[in-house]
Amino acid sequence: MRCAVYPGSFDPVTNGHIDIIKRAARQFDEVIVAVLRNSSKSALFSAEERVNILCEVLKDMPSVSVRSFDGLTVDFVRECGASAMIRGLRATTDFEYEMQIAHTNHVIDKEIDTVFFITNLKYAYLSSSIVKEIGMYGGDISKFVPPSVEKAVLEKFKTSR
Ligand code: ADP
Repeated sequence: MRCAVYPGSFDPVTNGHIDIIKRAARQFDEVIVAVLRNSSKSALFSAEERVNILCEVLKDMPSVSVRSFDGLTVDFVRECGASAMIRGLRATTDFEYEMQIAHTNHVIDKEIDTVFFITNLKYAYLSSSIVKEIGMYGGDISKFVPPSVEKAVLEKFKTSR
């Protein structure tokens, strides 16, 4: 069984993330999407909400599961029995940061490798931050996220107004 963990904030999950998850699921027997709880970024959705949103979006993918974690990502990857972690690369700006993290993680645990997927060109510009910024002003985010995520974002901004 080849298992990989895809860690991230997923605040919220976008079509760009989903594309990476689908492609990772073709390469690995099992993919665990892992929502980081203790991120330094201030989140729009709680970790529980992000997990629930992901579960709904990924419910038709039997080899994909969703969990949350805190602490070191490599520790969580090891705990899952996985030997790879997935990350997505959009631009050269992602590359520098991701390379530093991947090197660090490999020094911490040389059994765990980072596998990079290059973004689908369609989603190269897309980030959770962009979705939140447009959603905050009531803009149309339907091209960036699935309908259930769109609903959750619009509701969140409605209740926080
Ligand atoms: P983090 O806070 O860990 O960067 P994100 O949820 O922002 O978490 O992103 C998780 C991973 O998904 C990162 O590797 C990021 O580069 C990748 N990613 C985000 N958006 C896209 C996209 N549109 N296309 C491909 N990969 C993406």
